[in-house]
Amino acid sequence: MDKERKLIIAGNWKMNKTVAEALDLIQGLKRELAAVKEVDMVVCPPFTALSEVSKLVLDSNLRLGAQNMSENTGGAYTGEVAPMMLKEFSVRYVILGHSERRQFQKETDALIAKKALAAHAVELKPIVCVGETLAEREGGLTEQVLATQIHGSLAGLSKEQMNETVIAYEPVWAIGTGKTATTEQAQSTHAYIRSLIQKMFDDAVARRVRIQYGGSVKPSNARELMSQPDVDGALVGGAALEVRSFADIVKNSI
Ligand code: PEP
Repeated sequence: MDKERKLIIAGNWKMNKTVAEALDLIQGLKRELAAVKEVDMVVCPPFTALSEVSKLVLDSNLRLGAQNMSENTGGAYTGEVAPMMLKEFSVRYVILGHSERRQFQKETDALIAKKALAAHAVELKPIVCVGETLAEREGGLTEQVLATQIHGSLAGLSKEQMNETVIAYEPVWAIGTGKTATTEQAQSTHAYIRSLIQKMFDDAVARRVRIQYGGSVKPSNARELMSQPDVDGALVGGAALEVRSFADIVKNSI
């Protein structure tokens, strides 16, 4: 598939996989995906598996991501993980502001922006998640909600930092529900997000920024979604937990 931007497909394992299970999954992915050069592939295991997984992915084309981090650099923050601690395990990417964290940990756009700046300070690339709920889409509020999230979550980033930031558009109603946005919905929403980036930064940044789609991506819908001009990859939840489905999503996207 000829795309303007290199696709980036990331697996968000969420709170799944023991260390042993994680290593199994990585071994399978390495076997299946060794030849892939066309797509940036990222795996985001839980914190507890980062150390062991980092050793296995070192000699591979898989890159490591984390699912969250603190906005602080260290100190008295019980239960938190500092950005530099992720760097110890060769983590390159960090998912920020996933809708589950927005919902359950009450993360705000302002906090996500702080985290994004903290990530860039140690050269971690943030994957900043945005997306509307079903009620918001049905109420005609999608664009308004996304504009607020984009402006708030990316506040204070320089153009250079934005060039190294990934956006994940994940309609909340499509996450883990089996419901996927239609390709038209995905394309038009991605184009809208790109127009927001153009106004907030400039043309060059908007052309360069990669916008992933997330929400029940599977092997059967990956090709059509990834063929949309403004869809530059996927953030995959459930289907990232099995070798077969994640590998097929990648292969079907090429
Ligand atoms: C996600 O949580 O980022 C996600 C997209 O999940 P799923 O693929 O399971 O819908």
